[in-house]
Amino acid sequence: MGRGHLVPMVELARFITTHHNATISATLLLPSPPNTSTLHYISAVTAATPSITFHNLSHSNHNIIRTLQSFPTKPKAFIFDFFNHSAAAAAASLSIPTFYYFPNAASCVALFLYLPTIHQNSIKNGYSYVDMLRSIPGLPPLSPEDMPAPISDRHSRSYESFLTMSLQMRNSNGIIVNTFENLEPKATMALKNGACVPEPKTSPPVFCVGPLVSTIRGSDPVGDDGGKECLSWLNSQPSRSVVFLSFGSYGRFSKVQMREIAVALERSGKRFLWVVRDPMGTEEINLEALLTKGFLERTKEKGMVIKNWAPQVEVLSHDSVGGFVTHCGWNSVMEAVTFGVPMVAWPLYAEQNLNKVVIVEEMKVALPLKEDEGGFVRASELEERVVELMESERGRGKEVRERVLAARNGGAAALAGGGFSRVALDELQFQKLWWRTPSLTLVVT
Ligand code: UDP
Repeated sequence: MGRGHLVPMVELARFITTHHNATISATLLLPSPPNTSTLHYISAVTAATPSITFHNLSHSNHNIIRTLQSFPTKPKAFIFDFFNHSAAAAAASLSIPTFYYFPNAASCVALFLYLPTIHQNSIKNGYSYVDMLRSIPGLPPLSPEDMPAPISDRHSRSYESFLTMSLQMRNSNGIIVNTFENLEPKATMALKNGACVPEPKTSPPVFCVGPLVSTIRGSDPVGDDGGKECLSWLNSQPSRSVVFLSFGSYGRFSKVQMREIAVALERSGKRFLWVVRDPMGTEEINLEALLTKGFLERTKEKGMVIKNWAPQVEVLSHDSVGGFVTHCGWNSVMEAVTFGVPMVAWPLYAEQNLNKVVIVEEMKVALPLKEDEGGFVRASELEERVVELMESERGRGKEVRERVLAARNGGAAALAGGGFSRVALDELQFQKLWWRTPSLTLVVT
């Protein structure tokens, strides 16, 4: 269970329980016993939001049907993270309406919803796969390299699993997405007007409720007190002067690539805050040995390197931060948009190549990084993009800075009373009148 899935599900539950007229409660089903840092997070959530409770599925041998039957009142709706799509059948067998939740771009949801059509046409009807990718409703023309990792190999088990999920999605009661309508107008339009599910089938309703970002503070799994230290360091930096480099829950680089990043940062002359992980995955990091010789000493006035984990939401919301080199995970994108921080896009895994296309070409809130063979990024390339992002007076750097501020305002408006995302929440309530009785179950994978 990645934090990039647990946190958005909690935020969805908080959004629903906070903005509903009637009393409503949410139960989050956890698929596996939480570790210490997740337990810490859970107690912060329950302290802040008494209407949310957590239930560990391992207490019932992961039997969702038995768990749902054990609740004092039958849940009115079952919302699950898309990775947990096999739970759909359990809920359906108890006649509970099912809703998919995607903490992802609407563009990604459009692709998944359209996947059976791509599959059918390219495998069975003789259309070219490459041509099909160029005409997905609501998306700019894609190439095979832009495909999310789990569906990039069409002979893999993960592809099959996603294909099954896509077919199930088409039969669900609805799809909830952490984005907002005017951030991805083409994709949300395609989802809403049914273009991703060709006739005779009909598309399920889609509800864009974002941008939802983590609002629970002080529960980060931060080691070495690095979190507090970096926030006080940011307090002493000029407004919008620091570029933040962070690569999600799992991003890590080879030693060679890390040295290249260090050279780029030093040469750029920009202030920086960089979250570093060990290439081999161990928590203990010897920074002196990993980075270029003398780098930490030479840059100590301008930069800070933090080990393993930063309190990212607090960092991005800090006035000193003016740019973000990101792996393009969707939560990171929503956080950058919420706080108006322009990005440099450096996708690493999962659906991040697709997100890069979306944030660079559609939203225009990020600069793309040129990668060599094998995804290697040269110091000169990173240096140029960082400088362009942070200081260019005209051209692309200026444009992404302006666009992301407009997106930030759009996100705030979407969440305010009468905004797109609040209306989507109202529609979700109206659709089935399914939560007149106060009990709602959400499932997290
Ligand atoms: N995150 C953080 N500190 C870090 C790295 C990540 O707080 O050092 C948080 C980040 O704010 C985001 C989540 O972890 O909310 C990562 O989710 P995202 O979708 O961006 O990427 P994933 O980890 O799923 O690849």
